[in-house]
Amino acid sequence: MKNLHNVLLLERLYQLKELGYKYTSEEAFKEDDKNLLELPNSLQALKVQAFNCHLCSLSKSRKQVVFGEGNEQADVMFIGDAPLEIEDNEGKPFLGRGGEMLTAMIEKVLGLPRQSVYVTNLLKCHPLANKEVHESEYHTCKAYLFKEIELVQPKVIVTLGEKAYHYLTNDVTALKEIRGTIMQKESYAIIPTYHPSFLLKNPSFKQNVFEDLKKVKKVLS
Ligand code: URA
Repeated sequence: MKNLHNVLLLERLYQLKELGYKYTSEEAFKEDDKNLLELPNSLQALKVQAFNCHLCSLSKSRKQVVFGEGNEQADVMFIGDAPLEIEDNEGKPFLGRGGEMLTAMIEKVLGLPRQSVYVTNLLKCHPLANKEVHESEYHTCKAYLFKEIELVQPKVIVTLGEKAYHYLTNDVTALKEIRGTIMQKESYAIIPTYHPSFLLKNPSFKQNVFEDLKKVKKVLS
């Protein structure tokens, strides 16, 4: 709940910054917005809330919300960046060639069926190709991600690509330096690795991902 509070506080600060404010008073943040702070305690209800979300401008251009999917009690959660057009059309994360690559990482390297893990994204809405995603949009959507993590309670979170790692941890270390490191948090370990789309363009990095995913097995065993 503290994380969610901080995310929403940060979101409000970004909104004020976008409106041109350089300073604001502490008084403006004394009253918690109870409605915003209370996200539901089941994935199904959270999904419904996300489907009706209009907290940021991505909601205006999306065809549909792309919520996380998979095993709701998974030991392993994969977090990507944002849905592409194909996922915006179909309403599921990681389809197409990137999705095939992710499935291969899960099934061939980890030896787990894809349905046995939980797959989600930082952003639940597809950003238009020519529109740069603003930081505030990531921070706003993080509230849903933190709640998904709280509800699924994975033992290991694999972040896919630099954005997923940065926005989950607030650590801006370059991915090439941090990938494959096991970061033990209070209730789960984070293992950052390369994004499947990056592997499609740079297949020589598959060996690195293979090594990173072996650490997932190590944490689970
Ligand atoms: N599709 C997703 O769902 N997420 C990504 O990060 C990329 C493609």
